[in-house]
Amino acid sequence: RIVTAQSTSPNEESVDRALRPVRLADYVGQPKACEQLSVFIKAAKSRHEALDHLLVFGPPGLGKTTLAHIVANEMGVNLRQTSGPVLERPGDLAAILTNLQENDVLFIDEIHRLSPVVEEILYPALEDFQIDIMIGEGPAARSIKLDLKPFTLIGATTRAGMLTNPLRARFGIVAQLQFYSNEDLAKIVRRSAKLLNVKIDDEGAFEVARRSRGTPRIANRLLRRVRDYAQVKYDGIVTREVADKALQMLDVDPLGFDLIDRKFLLAIIEKFNGGPVGIDNLAAAVGEDRETLEDVVEPYLIQQGHLQRTPRGRVATMLAYRHFGFEMPGSAGQ
Ligand code: ADP
Repeated sequence: RIVTAQSTSPNEESVDRALRPVRLADYVGQPKACEQLSVFIKAAKSRHEALDHLLVFGPPGLGKTTLAHIVANEMGVNLRQTSGPVLERPGDLAAILTNLQENDVLFIDEIHRLSPVVEEILYPALEDFQIDIMIGEGPAARSIKLDLKPFTLIGATTRAGMLTNPLRARFGIVAQLQFYSNEDLAKIVRRSAKLLNVKIDDEGAFEVARRSRGTPRIANRLLRRVRDYAQVKYDGIVTREVADKALQMLDVDPLGFDLIDRKFLLAIIEKFNGGPVGIDNLAAAVGEDRETLEDVVEPYLIQQGHLQRTPRGRVATMLAYRHFGFEMPGSAGQ
């Protein structure tokens, strides 16, 4: 899926890394999160303390990992990176925690997927910089307390609602990332184009931006595909026309919706009379798993006003009907 917001290959991950801004000043958009962080980082640095624990949430590809690296960089400390599903046993987390240096950043991606036993270890670590670990087995087993160096946990999650309350309560700073405006995405596209040596004019950058589902990772991916198209079919310069043709070929429509977005909206309209329809029925109808629909597909459609989530299920809005050139039932003459 061309507009999937997840990294799709190791190659893409290395491009992601290469395009990542390293200073807060170069992080485009997200003014609220950036302002908070710049104040808290300055304060923590002047006190020579670790930054408070930070929870970052938002759909994939919006810059959570990038922000974690920037925080470590601005604080002048190391970053250790892991993810919820990788930490299977308490010992896995204990090994990482006991190796952290003073004020280091520990970044846990998909933190909502930590197992309950691992999460238990995290509570005293976050609160008192201590962990309790069991040594030995059977009757001789005993628990010992280990002191940790002060550190900052940065947890990333696609949905804050998936976190347990005790875990959420232990984060002092919460940053909710929003979809990017077209102007901000165009800035990101121009910056990436410079780094990748792609010739692009302002209108070309804007066309890529406005079809990127508000998501920097998608903007960077579309830019690379559009560059290929410009090289093979044109003289290598990405203009609005080149971007438009390339994106049409990639089945990214003028609003940035891809095949799955369209299949999803069309299913609601054509198979379920516009809704309301439950997410499990929809998942079956479009052949995608529910989590992908909830985390990746729906947030953007909702933000763009094409979909509503109601207590009784998903509903296609007037804009969705119009996008496909349909008339909304009961809206004749409006
Ligand atoms: P997430 O962790 O939320 O899935 P990432 O931090 O990996 O997303 O970001 C994906 C890509 O998008 C990165 O390679 C980075 O180049 C780009 N990116 C994300 N946020 C920004 C931003 N605010 N400014 C510039 N580039 C960004």
